[in-house]
Amino acid sequence: MLYQRSSQLFAEAEKVIPGGVNSPVRAFKSVGGTPIFVKSAKGAYLFDEDGNKLIDYINSWGPMILGHAYEPVVNALVEKAKLGTSFGMPTALETEIAALAVSMVPNIDKIRFVNSGTEACMSAIRLARGYTKRDKIIKFAGCYHGHSDSFLIQAGSGAITFGSPNSPGVTAGTAKDTLLANYNDLANVASLFEANKDEIAAIIIEPVAGNMGCIPPKEGFLEGLRQLCDDNNTLLIFDEVMTGFRLASGGAQELLGIKADIACFGKVIGGGLPVGAFAARNEIMNYLAPLGPVYQAGTLSGNPLAMAAGLAMLQSLHSDKAIFSRLEEKTAYLEKGIAKVLNNNKIIHTINRVGSMISVHFDANPVFDFNSAKNGDNDTFKKFFHGLLKEGVYIAPSAYETWFITDALTYEDLDFTINAIDKVSKDL
Ligand SMILES: *Cc1c(COP(=O)(O)O)cnc(C)c1O
Repeated sequence: MLYQRSSQLFAEAEKVIPGGVNSPVRAFKSVGGTPIFVKSAKGAYLFDEDGNKLIDYINSWGPMILGHAYEPVVNALVEKAKLGTSFGMPTALETEIAALAVSMVPNIDKIRFVNSGTEACMSAIRLARGYTKRDKIIKFAGCYHGHSDSFLIQAGSGAITFGSPNSPGVTAGTAKDTLLANYNDLANVASLFEANKDEIAAIIIEPVAGNMGCIPPKEGFLEGLRQLCDDNNTLLIFDEVMTGFRLASGGAQELLGIKADIACFGKVIGGGLPVGAFAARNEIMNYLAPLGPVYQAGTLSGNPLAMAAGLAMLQSLHSDKAIFSRLEEKTAYLEKGIAKVLNNNKIIHTINRVGSMISVHFDANPVFDFNSAKNGDNDTFKKFFHGLLKEGVYIAPSAYETWFITDALTYEDLDFTINAIDKVSKDL
């Protein structure tokens, strides 16, 4: 494969865009080499600027759950664009997608649309803080909730402590209100509640973690968080930006049967356009402006193009529930195939999977939180990544990412991928 034109485009981009990219993980920093510049995509495939065809396991980091350039979404966009692309006034379309989302997701009465997952999570914690009249939140190490200040926090020193900023520009004042816990460690969370009695507004969590590889919640973990929240008048926020409309039509709340107080969405809900949303029961959502005191707004929120794409996507998912079982079967097939060839080639590994979220860790031990996820062998991952790229298979350029499976993948694509992994494994 040739990457000549991609390299040239990257060099040009670096002159006018910091690091040549508009979002850091695209820059290939953790795997080395230059990023691939994409020209077009259709179904399960990417076509790059050098004319290479790649099977895509990122799918825009989730939104393309039904494949690229998915016709109902494209058609909806083309039709809407002719009618004007932004008004800053209400449209019937916004109510239509809101009503559909509310009917698909359990435990919500109302939903507010924003422009990204970051905005959804940022707004959700403001709402939780306003509603509970408390300042502190608990987040889990390795969970990602977008790049707003309150979430860019790392563990401080000591077992029970305030977090400290993990990016310059995040103030110590902000960091002190974010408490950090270990994923799947209920006792850790309980101790934070004890040390911060009546101060915790919300726990925010990825109900199935997807930003440190795929990490399933242990039996009883989310139930335990639900109980702790109920006992302490704290809200439980499920960040379903990745899991929403992916693990089931009602997301992780439906799949796992656990009730969240606020749910955040992004990725799939926008069908590939910039959309996020947060939702809750009336009592909480009515706390938002203009009904209530908590302020939140957006010039392009509920944008007609974005809503048209999102609506077409949700309608497709709603009208064919078998999509989720197909995705589950395809991903299970992939998991089995990968495990078989890695075992045959004696490559030490652990595979985690929930539904169509899957990750391969080059580590013999179970991966259940951020610390265990960090143990994976990154040099092996780099070789694995570049080897697969050469074979025409594109996975995320970081060992901490989940693979996003799309229903556009055929079993031939999956077999091709498993064969590619077999080949690459011989050189690991
Ligand atoms: C991607 C992601 C976000 C951030 O969404 P953006 O649209 O990139 O701002 C938040 N939470 C989770 C779980 C995500 O996977």
